Amino acid sequence: MDLDLDGDTLREECGVFGILDHPDAAALTALGLHALQHRGQEAAGIVTYGEGQFHSERHLGLVGDHYTDAATLARLPGSAAMGHVRYSTTGETVLRNVQPLFAELSEGGIAIAHNGNFTNGLKLRRELIANGAICQSTSDTEVVLHLVARSPQKSSADRFVDAIKQMQGGYALVALTRTKLIGARDPNGIRPLVLGDLNGSPIFASESCALDIIGAKHVRDVENGEVVICERKADGAVTIESIKPFPPRPERVCLFEYVYFARPDSIVAGRQVYTTRKHMGMNLAKEAAVEADVVVPVPDGGTPAAIGYAQESGIPFELGIIRNHYVGRTFIEPTQQIRAFGVKLKHSANRAEIEGKRVVLVDDSIVRGTTSLKIVQMIREAGAKEVHLRVASPMITHSDYYGINTPDPEALLANQHADLQSMCKYVGADSLQFLSIDGLYDAVGGIPRNAQEPQFTDHCFTGDYPTPLVDLVEENGRSPKQLSMLREAG
Ligand code: AMP
Repeated sequence: MDLDLDGDTLREECGVFGILDHPDAAALTALGLHALQHRGQEAAGIVTYGEGQFHSERHLGLVGDHYTDAATLARLPGSAAMGHVRYSTTGETVLRNVQPLFAELSEGGIAIAHNGNFTNGLKLRRELIANGAICQSTSDTEVVLHLVARSPQKSSADRFVDAIKQMQGGYALVALTRTKLIGARDPNGIRPLVLGDLNGSPIFASESCALDIIGAKHVRDVENGEVVICERKADGAVTIESIKPFPPRPERVCLFEYVYFARPDSIVAGRQVYTTRKHMGMNLAKEAAVEADVVVPVPDGGTPAAIGYAQESGIPFELGIIRNHYVGRTFIEPTQQIRAFGVKLKHSANRAEIEGKRVVLVDDSIVRGTTSLKIVQMIREAGAKEVHLRVASPMITHSDYYGINTPDPEALLANQHADLQSMCKYVGADSLQFLSIDGLYDAVGGIPRNAQEPQFTDHCFTGDYPTPLVDLVEENGRSPKQLSMLREAG
């Protein structure tokens, strides 16, 4: 979380990657980050250790824009590397916030990158600053660096563990020292992190798709609350040690990874994301059937669920919307006239498959409702007889504080309307249905939600936050945006 200037909250979405003991460490990291690009498109950074020192390249923009040329890779020598991709919603994506962040400590340098958010980051930051710490970025990752630096422990790994024991929230962290690559997941395992292997070189990555791109083996998930320390010993041998510094508890992966965030070809906590999304669509068809001529996905997010809906309902699946892949989230709409084209910059109706038809439109989620409103209108203008919007996740009623970029609660469509009917009227559909929470649990885990001990992190849909929201409560219920501004102010 950090400062946002454009009216949205600025909660970071990120991807992390690290590799130890490989001669092409930087190039492999660039490839891994490229596969994780969907987790963050505004900035990318790589840190390596080689030739007796750390090297760092951090840039605004896409991985492919900066890390494909030989000259850049030559500036990143060494057999150990880690990197980060980041998305935030504003021009305040300044270079000082781009990870990995690096610090010289008494026993050598350490670089740290994280995916997720700390829910007590602001409190800790204030305490650190009150005690004389100088913060150069507005990123929570810097708080971890300070805590590592101040730890009384001797080894860098022990200092790292000391630091994360003070942090609360949802995170996957990767750290690089002169000899070690460390990966850690928060006690609930909210954000994913996998351990891979490329011919003996250990790898950490946010998702398994980053291992596939470089032909590495997917060894296992880093477990919730686990710290995995990979070390290159003086004799050249690489060791892997696992530490469990937190009291054991059941894993609660964030359901939003399955709904929207992770790439469909990734395996998150043992489940193929594509398959879970198809199941969401199948369950949606069972729960919210409608007579129609064609099932149309809102690409790309809604596509697997739409396939599932079509298979379950027997209604033909067609690509009734074509997506322009060259419009990133960073697309700047320069004039009012261009802005008026709105969604058409990204999505176009495929009139031949829509005209005169009763359309079931399937999307993965509704956040503010902006996309739905525009797409329903576009489908109608393309001549659809009826438009039935089906959403492959429950209503989003609560903001995320663990690394998914959602707006403040009052901006969520579900909170702006008293009931489903009012929402349906707003988006202009003939009917609107969401997948139930049990339908989602069934699609992902095969069993209904256990209300006493939910098997997943599902606060966006239920308000059941798996950690205390320390900053939010201490600041008397200030909005995430206000918290971000406080953080900026120190
Ligand atoms: P909205 O237009 O605000 O209702 O956002 C819903 C659309 O954005 C859906 O088509 C989703 O596929 C997509 N979406 C869902 N979550 C996110 C997110 N965290 N960041 C960007 N897009 C998202």
